[in-house]
Amino acid sequence: MTDIKILPAVKQFLAKGHAHYINGKFHNTGEQPIEVINPATEEIVAKVPMASDKEINQAVASSYDAFNNIWKLATPESRQNSLLKFAEALANHKEELAQIETLCTGKLIDIARFEIDQSCSFLRYYAGWATKITGETVAQTSQPSMAGEQYTGFTRREPIGVVGGIIPWNFPVMISIWKLAAALTCGCTIVIKPSEFTPLSMLRVAQIAHEEAGIPAGVINVVNGLGNVGQALIDHPHIAKISFTGSMSTGAKIGQGAIKNNIKRFTLELGGKNAAGFLADIDIDEAVQGIIAAGLSHQGQICASAERIYIHESIIDKVTEKLVTTLADWKIGSPLNPQNQFGPLSNRPHFEKILSFFEKAKQEGDQIVFGGKKVEGKGYYVYPTVIRAKNEKSALLHEETFGPVLTLLPFKTDEELVKLMNDSPYGLTASIWTNNLSKAMRLVAQVEAGTVWVNMHLALDPSISFGGAKGSGVGREFGSHFIDDYTELKSVIVRY
Ligand code: NAD
Repeated sequence: MTDIKILPAVKQFLAKGHAHYINGKFHNTGEQPIEVINPATEEIVAKVPMASDKEINQAVASSYDAFNNIWKLATPESRQNSLLKFAEALANHKEELAQIETLCTGKLIDIARFEIDQSCSFLRYYAGWATKITGETVAQTSQPSMAGEQYTGFTRREPIGVVGGIIPWNFPVMISIWKLAAALTCGCTIVIKPSEFTPLSMLRVAQIAHEEAGIPAGVINVVNGLGNVGQALIDHPHIAKISFTGSMSTGAKIGQGAIKNNIKRFTLELGGKNAAGFLADIDIDEAVQGIIAAGLSHQGQICASAERIYIHESIIDKVTEKLVTTLADWKIGSPLNPQNQFGPLSNRPHFEKILSFFEKAKQEGDQIVFGGKKVEGKGYYVYPTVIRAKNEKSALLHEETFGPVLTLLPFKTDEELVKLMNDSPYGLTASIWTNNLSKAMRLVAQVEAGTVWVNMHLALDPSISFGGAKGSGVGREFGSHFIDDYTELKSVIVRY
């Protein structure tokens, strides 16, 4: 099989030179254009001008107006119906959006299709919450007032206002949908700032939301640019909350900036150095399939991916050997060819960062047992890589690579495993692999992470909250907990 054919709709969209989507219209103005590069070929896909203060102010003004005059006044049922319609419209454009994602991120086309399917599922899940946001009643207060009067209280959850959504490059559509669905469900509007590496797909998604699902102009705006555009959203007085997904270092700056701006609300979904622990009773084939699924999907560029793999000393040699023979058969190549199992990294700086990790591993005396080098030719391709760490101090067991780099270390006892798994400033995800359920349950309680899987890794479901413990973030997405982060709680007290 060869590469799939690019749809005419994709070619037409890319040729238009769109930059921002503001108040229901494309804007092609702005400053110095960003070159969007196809990571598989290193060719320019499109040039996108960066938002100047003018475009940023227009976008925020439009979202602020839509919030105050339309969206927060809409009934919960109409918000629900709009989001359901939006999900249906997105599903109708699945192939087109998936192709744009693959051209800009290098993700395998089937992963891109999955991303759009997932985006629709999450939209539908969030839509259901619009009619279920409630407060609580305190019918009998704990004491009368100082004047002896009786009073009763209740709480209301009110939309927080205009949200600024700042997005990374790994899943531009899905991560934006997580934020905009949460915001719109609660009655907020949103200005999205995609990553400078992937500025295109959300422009088309915003257009579909408005023109095909009838979401009013201004409820979803998209402005493109570098970090300074994100910073301008943080500084803008009409942005009530920042919802950020990205690296820990940028997250720290965003948190500080939000606090400085009159204690603006913020949630941070940050990186991870996620651990997977394989106990002695797990069979070798299951361990190998588990490690591959946990660490190498989308070339390891998933915040929840496992990067530190602790394997019981009795099985680590056999697991390593089988892992290496399995990866040796992998088809690496164009992400538009559905038969390939592994594509390029998403952008040049990230490609160079991963190559520097290979050098670091060599300098530290780690053993590279598979990969550890680039694939010769055009594109940002590296081999999936397996490293046996020299010891628990190796940098590759501590620094987030966000790439296809599995670093293995043996352990002897469960106590040692817990200590190793928790030896990180991050705490996004982890997994325990064993057939002994009671052991798994005891370990789950000891691992410091926002999500812990047992005998699986990476599965995310809209009904289960997701977010980071420790340095991996502040706040939770999905489940019902997102409501706390997109609404303000108001207490109402009535004398009687
Ligand atoms: P990044 O932090 O470099 O950039 C993320 C976004 O922030 C981009 O849109 C960027 O333009 C913007 N930005 C950069 N500097 C800024 C500033 N000073 N003020 C405001 N905005 C600024 O991250 P990245 O390289 O795009 O993404 C990779 C990182 O994201 C990894 O660490 C990964 O683990 C993390 N991530 C986390 C999750 C999660 O759900 N926890 C999901 C995906 C990715």
